[in-house]
Amino acid sequence: MRERPIYFDIQATTPLDPRVLEEMLPYFTEKFGNAASRHAFGSEASEAVLRARASIAKGIGAKSPLEVVFTSGATEADNLAVKGLARANAERGRHVVTTRTEHKAVLDSCKQLEAEGFRVTYLEVDSDGLLKLDELAQAVVPGTVLVSIIAVNNEIGVIQDIAAIGAICRERGALFHTDATQAVGKIPFDVDRMNVDSASFTAHKMYGPKGVGALYLRRRNPEAKPEAEMLGGGHENGSRSGTLNVPGIVGLAAALRYALEDLEPEIARLTALRDRLKDGLRSGIENVRINGHETQRLPGNLNACFPGAPAELIQMALPDLALSGGSACSSGIAGPSHVLHALGSEAACSEGAVRIGLGRFTTQEDVDYAIGRFVEVVPRVRAEAARAGA
Ligand SMILES: *Cc1c(COP(=O)(O)O)cnc(C)c1O
Repeated sequence: MRERPIYFDIQATTPLDPRVLEEMLPYFTEKFGNAASRHAFGSEASEAVLRARASIAKGIGAKSPLEVVFTSGATEADNLAVKGLARANAERGRHVVTTRTEHKAVLDSCKQLEAEGFRVTYLEVDSDGLLKLDELAQAVVPGTVLVSIIAVNNEIGVIQDIAAIGAICRERGALFHTDATQAVGKIPFDVDRMNVDSASFTAHKMYGPKGVGALYLRRRNPEAKPEAEMLGGGHENGSRSGTLNVPGIVGLAAALRYALEDLEPEIARLTALRDRLKDGLRSGIENVRINGHETQRLPGNLNACFPGAPAELIQMALPDLALSGGSACSSGIAGPSHVLHALGSEAACSEGAVRIGLGRFTTQEDVDYAIGRFVEVVPRVRAEAARAGA
C-alpha cells in the first residue's frame, strides 16, 4: 500500500502551485503593508493589489480592474452576489431565478431571501444535468431582479451554456450572476462575451491559496452594485469592507495567470485522461453509470455510480485513492446529494456516487492505477453488499 493516497479530489480543493507560493511569499514578510495605508509600505501593497486586480480582470474578460471585488472565497462572493444584488434591486421586483443544482452557498442565500419575502424559482435540469433554456426564458419575468446559475457543477462537472443564459437574461432585463468557481481557469470563461453581470470564483480551486476569492461586478450596469454584507472601512468601493488579504490576492492573480497560460493544452490533456479513466472503468467493470453529460463537462471530472456497490463502501475499500463520495462541501451531512437528486438519478444511484477529480499534477500512471483498483474493488464490494443484503 502507498504511503499517501493519490489525490483525486480536485473539485474540493487543489494543491498550491509552488510558483504561486513563490510569488506570494514576499507579501507575508518584507512587503507586509496595509494596502489602504498612505506610506511606502502601503503603496508597495496597494500596487501589488492594483497589478493583481488588472491581471484578474483581463483574465476573465472584464473591461475594468474596478469590476473585481476581493472576498474570502467563493462562498462569500456567492452570498454577496445573491443576497446583495437581490436586496439592492428589491424595489424593481422581488423574484429570483436559480437551479436545483447550485452550490449550497447560492441555495442557502436563496433560502434567506425567501425568508425576507422574495419569491425564488428553482429550475429543474434534465437527466444530463443541463438547464432547459426555454424554461429559463419562461421563468424570467418583468419582476425578476436576479438570475443565478452555476457555470460548472462541482459534483457532476456539467457545463451550462453560460453565453446563451446570459443572452436570455440580458434580453429580459434581469441581472445575471454565475458561480464560476469551477469554470474560471479551467475552461474558457469571458464575462463580456457571455453577458455575465456578476461572477464568483476562488483561488484554491485553481492551485492558489485558500481563503481568497473574488466577485466580478459589471460596472456599466448600475444595478450590479450589491448591498454590502461586510460593513466597515468601505473597502472595495463599499462592496466589501475589510483589510485586503494582499498575499492571497497576489496568489489568486498568479494562480489564474498560470492556469490561463496553459489552458488549451491542459484541457486537451485532462479530457484525454478523463476519457481514459471512463473507458477503463467501463471496460473493466459491468454496469457503470456516468452522472452528468458525457461531453459537456469539466475536463477533469468524472462522477460515477456502480449499482449494487454503495459509494461509501467503495471509498472505504480504496484508502489509497483520495476521492469524494459526493460534494465535499456538504460531506458529513448524511443523505443523498441534492445534485444527483435533481438529475432524477435516485433509482439508479441510490447507493451514492463517486467523484473522481483529475488536475494539474495527475498523471496517466495515476489514472491507470485508479482504474486497476476500481476494477479490483467494485466486484468485491458488490458481492459483499449482496451477501449482506441477502
Ligand atoms: C468550492 C466551491 C465554492 C466555495 O468556495 P470557497 O472559496 O471554498 O468558499 C462555491 N461554489 C463552487 C461551485 C465550488 O466548487
